[in-house]
Amino acid sequence: MRASKETYRKVAKECSSYEPIGTDRTLNGCSCDASEVSCVTCKHFDKDEYCRLNLYDQIIASRHIEE
Ligand code: SF4
Repeated sequence: MRASKETYRKVAKECSSYEPIGTDRTLNGCSCDASEVSCVTCKHFDKDEYCRLNLYDQIIASRHIEE
């Protein structure tokens, strides 16, 4: 993981584009709880752990979230 679980959770909570992936799909190779709001459970999160919408870095910067 590039960032901690806690960071992904904070970012997803601030993100207006968060879209949970269905529970019928593999969770980006992660065994995290699918009901948890986090980038890890977001449709736009690439398997290489990048936000496809490039929102992750913007949210980190604008909300002063520590990685
Ligand atoms: S992966 Fe991107 S779109 Fe999804 S919650 Fe994180 S920052 Fe938002």
